Amino acid sequence: MDGWGEFEFGDQKVAPGTRLETHLSIGNDPMGQSADIPIQILHGVKSGPTVAIIAALHGDELNGTGIIHHLVYGDDHIPGTSDDHISPEQLSGTLILVPVVNVEGMMMGTRTAPDGRDINRLFPGQKEGSQSSRLAYSLFKNVIKRADYLIDLHTAPASRMNVPQIRADFDKSSCKKIARAFGTNVIMNSKGPKGSIRREATEAGTPAILMESGTSHRFESEALECGVKGILNVLSYLEMIERQVIKPNWRILVRKFRWVRAPVGGILHTLVLGGALVSEGETIAYVTDPFGARVDDVKSPVNGYIVGLATTPLVRSGDPIANIVFVRKKKIQEILSIESATNNSIQNDNDSVAEEEIEDDDGSTLDETETTA
Ligand SMILES: [Zn+2]
Repeated sequence: MDGWGEFEFGDQKVAPGTRLETHLSIGNDPMGQSADIPIQILHGVKSGPTVAIIAALHGDELNGTGIIHHLVYGDDHIPGTSDDHISPEQLSGTLILVPVVNVEGMMMGTRTAPDGRDINRLFPGQKEGSQSSRLAYSLFKNVIKRADYLIDLHTAPASRMNVPQIRADFDKSSCKKIARAFGTNVIMNSKGPKGSIRREATEAGTPAILMESGTSHRFESEALECGVKGILNVLSYLEMIERQVIKPNWRILVRKFRWVRAPVGGILHTLVLGGALVSEGETIAYVTDPFGARVDDVKSPVNGYIVGLATTPLVRSGDPIANIVFVRKKKIQEILSIESATNNSIQNDNDSVAEEEIEDDDGSTLDETETTA
C-alpha cells in the first residue's frame, strides 16, 4: 500500500477496495421526508484521481442515469457479476457517482426542479438560497469540490436528438485532454453558460466535460453504449483502470455550427438521420400543410455533419430543425472513406486519429446560443 487511506464522505468512511451507497441530504420534501440525492462511491485499492460522474441534473434526461447503471453493474444490472465494468478492487483512485441529481424533476418528468428553476444555471449555489440553489450548493461542495475531474451527462430536449458528442472548453488543456480521451467523433468547444456546473467546476479547479447523447425521457442503447465506452476511456486515460483507450477513427473539434430553422410552420418530414454527412444545398427535410402537400424545403446551408436533429414533426416558423457542423468537402470524403474502410467508426488501437479542428467564421458558437445544456 502507498499510504492510500479511507475516503471520507460526510461522517462516513469508505475503506480502500470497497463501495458505499449513500446519499446527500438536501432538506425536506412537502411531506417532511428527507429529500436525498443518491450517491455511490467506489474507493479504489490504489491511489489515483477522484472522478465525479453525474446524471439527470435535468430531471427528464435519463440516458445518463442508464449509463451510470450499466457502468457499475453491467447489462444484467446484477452487482458482482462478470459484466460489471468497474469494481473498487481493481480501481486506482475514487469514483463518486450521482445517477440522479434532480430527483424530484425526474419523478415529475421535468427538466427543472419543483421550484421551476434550471439547477444547471445556479452553480456554485447558495447555502441559504432557493431550494434549487441549496441543492446546487450541496452538490458542489460535497461532490464537485472533492473531485479532480467531472463528467456531466445530458441529452437533447424531447423535441430533438443529439448525436453523441462531448462539449468542453478547448482553451483549458485538462478539459480538452479528457474530452479527446472520451472518444466521440465530435467534440464541441463550449465553456457552458454562466452558472452551469461544467463552467463553474472548471473555474473552481475541477476540469469538466459534458456528454450530450440522444433525447430525453428514454433509455437509448446507442447513447448508453457510447457513454459507458467513453467513461471507461477516460478512466483508462487517467490510469484508474487497466484497459486500452479506444480511439475513434476520425474526430472533428468544432468551434462553430449552424442551426437550420423551419422556413414555415407545418408538418416536418426529415430526410436524413442524426450523424449524416450532408452537402451544401442538399434538401434535408421538407414541410407540408395539414393535408400533406409539400409547401417548402429545408436545405443545408453548408457541407457538414448533423450533430442534432428535430424528432417531432410539428414545427412553427423558426423552430430548430438541424444543428449542422461545417465540414470541408474534402474532409467529408475522407470521413466517408474511413467509415467504409472500417465499417465501424470506433475500433482503432493505433495513434492515427484523423483529426481536424474546424473553424467556421460564419457559424455560431455554442456559448452564444446554448439554452439546453
Ligand atoms: Zn441537460
